[in-house]
Amino acid sequence: MLSLEQKIVREGTVLEGDVLKVGSFLNQQLDVDFLMEMGNEIARIYSGDNVTKLLTVESSGIAVAVAAGAIMHLPVVFAKKNKSSNISSDVYSANVHSYTHNKDYDIVVAKDYINADDKIVIIDDFLANGKALEGLIEIVGQAGATVIGCTCAIEKGFQGGGDRLRAQGIRVESLAVIDKMSPDSIEFRK
Ligand code: 5GP
Repeated sequence: MLSLEQKIVREGTVLEGDVLKVGSFLNQQLDVDFLMEMGNEIARIYSGDNVTKLLTVESSGIAVAVAAGAIMHLPVVFAKKNKSSNISSDVYSANVHSYTHNKDYDIVVAKDYINADDKIVIIDDFLANGKALEGLIEIVGQAGATVIGCTCAIEKGFQGGGDRLRAQGIRVESLAVIDKMSPDSIEFRK
């Protein structure tokens, strides 16, 4: 998505540890018009796939998923990050390792909100090592539902998570894929 690549170059800052900061439109302030453009693009990618629900994880994935849900007229379910180790039997749950924060956490979704006949698109803001998406895919599997595909706004392709999932046969279509980045330049996958 060319307009997203241009926005990342204009407004993004590359921090230490391969972290891209895009607080001006995605991670702190939300550029709502631009989010709707991303939502339109996600709707275009999955038109004809009979998707029934969008699934994301709190917090930054929610804005992207809501934009797509508004265009696609679909409900958005978000997994909650669980701080306690008490997991009740009425939720689906998965453990996720965050390299960015160097810690593990559980994500949970109440069983009420995903059914075996759901066809789900998983959405997040960033794709790096793929652990957040793997956790969400596990939750869809626990529900017996189907993953139609995964779309993140920004994939850091050089961290390999997206390609590892693609190698497993999972459809991963990110809106912008960064192949290389430094404080001076950002290169996108063609
Ligand atoms: P993964 O599980 O794919 O390693 O990381 C994805 C999660 O980490 C995303 O949900 C996002 O919140 C966070 N994340 C990873 N890399 C970045 C980054 O460069 N910038 C920001 N803002 N968040 C990131």
